[in-house]
Amino acid sequence: MNAALRIRLLMELRRSGVTDTRVLSAIEKVPRGAFVSEPFLDQAWDNAALPIGCGQTISQPLVVALMSQALELTPRMKVLEIGTGSGYQAAVLAALARRVYTLERHRALLAEAEARFRALRITNIVAMLGDGIKGWSAQAPFDRILLTAAAPELPPALLAQLGEGGILVAPVDTGPDRQDVVRVRRTAGGFSTETLFPVRFVPLLPGVPDPVA
Ligand code: SAH
Repeated sequence: MNAALRIRLLMELRRSGVTDTRVLSAIEKVPRGAFVSEPFLDQAWDNAALPIGCGQTISQPLVVALMSQALELTPRMKVLEIGTGSGYQAAVLAALARRVYTLERHRALLAEAEARFRALRITNIVAMLGDGIKGWSAQAPFDRILLTAAAPELPPALLAQLGEGGILVAPVDTGPDRQDVVRVRRTAGGFSTETLFPVRFVPLLPGVPDPVA
């Protein structure tokens, strides 16, 4: 809990375009150190992505903040996240919304994330093993959907599970070696998409690699 490092990070986020005060206080409040492994603890408040096992990464705080801001969350919303990973982004969303549903395809990462939610007494996150490309139809529709892994196209099942007036934010492959975060709004008439900023995410992969035998 290094207050100086935390303030340094918040100032960097503000300088880089994070203006939503609810998002800034969520970043301030969620202890990122609880979501990284021991060797990286001293870098927990750095604005950097870090390895979390299974070849995956905890996203850079700036990207977590900008994507959270792009979702335009209010406290009553029901949110679906694809790619639980460390659980950090889910914890930030949980500070901004009513309930967060999060799907992860790696069993080991899911178990670690769930243990962190319990240790931090975060009770409004429901995490499940599953292929996020298919979404979570039993809990649909969602007010907001966030993907934290990149795909060439937005999975149709996720667009279908977005409620009217809803917003989906996702990194999308837009060229060789290029990804951009897009924001999709669902209106009565259909979907409208805008491109927000370039990013670097791990790929959205199909299926669950280690199903129960
Ligand atoms: N949100 C995470 C970072 C995610 S890294 C955090 O805050 O730490 C991307 C995650 O998406 C990885 O854990 C990866 O295993 C997961 N993932 C990739 N494809 C997926 C899919 N189809 N369904 C569910 N999770 C997926």
